[in-house]
Amino acid sequence: MAKLSKRLDTNVEGNFFVDSTCIDCDTCRQLAPSTFVENGDYSAVFEQPQSVEEELSAYQALIACPVGSIGTVKKDSNIFSKAQTSFPLSIEDGVYYVGFNSEKSFGAHSYFIQHPEGNWLIDSPRYLKQLEHAFEALGGIRYIFLSHEDDVAEATRYAKIFNATRIIHRADSHAMPDAERIIEGRDRVEVEPEYVCIPVPGHTAGSMALLYKKRFLFSGDHLWWNRTDQQLGTPKNLVWDDGLLEQSIRTLCDDPFEWVLPGHGERIHLPYHAMKSAVEQLIQRRWPIQSSPM
Ligand code: SF4
Repeated sequence: MAKLSKRLDTNVEGNFFVDSTCIDCDTCRQLAPSTFVENGDYSAVFEQPQSVEEELSAYQALIACPVGSIGTVKKDSNIFSKAQTSFPLSIEDGVYYVGFNSEKSFGAHSYFIQHPEGNWLIDSPRYLKQLEHAFEALGGIRYIFLSHEDDVAEATRYAKIFNATRIIHRADSHAMPDAERIIEGRDRVEVEPEYVCIPVPGHTAGSMALLYKKRFLFSGDHLWWNRTDQQLGTPKNLVWDDGLLEQSIRTLCDDPFEWVLPGHGERIHLPYHAMKSAVEQLIQRRWPIQSSPM
């Protein structure tokens, strides 16, 4: 629960504020970019919501914040309830952003796929009864795909509730030792038609991406959109093996996808050819070919 006594001076005056417990995870800036901005090592309110829609987005950010760092001087209960029941938020074609990011995964995003053959949860949000009911209403959870060791959060709890199969790579399986399905080695595995698990070691030894319908790439902490530079990004710090990271990014060059849905960083939707070119440009920037000395 955000405290007025810890309100950051970087907030503009008004109802919404961020306090000093913020972990700078970026969730609020994605959900309500017209209200929140990065300022130093924290987020801050740079403009108070100007419309009901903006206020709804600000309340969605307040609810999704993994550490409860966003507060209001006076809560509008109607809009707050509306925001609370709005999650998961539909993205496109049965794919949802779940919200309720967990502090256990440093505020990583999780996603949900609704599918007639069984639904998928991609990485884990916080546990809330309300979210359990929302998943139930959407048809439950058949698989929980874990992109890597950092983002498992409450996966075990959701797996028990829905009798779901947790999928993780062997090299990161210490984070979920009793997972029902372990992916081995570097080969891609089609778990169900339209769902391909792609090992992408680099950030961690057992990082994986999930390619769904040859359109949606759930990329964990492997690949994301950088809002400031308007280009794809990949980790520079917290990299287990940079050479493998490069190989893993290169393997995605020939994959058809038009969405990148990351654990951290911004999601992006581009036409196929533009996405391919964005991946190629990322490789050129991050691992430039050194010209040999004359
Ligand atoms: S969602 Fe919360 S923790 Fe994350 S950047 Fe915003 S205020 Fe900070």
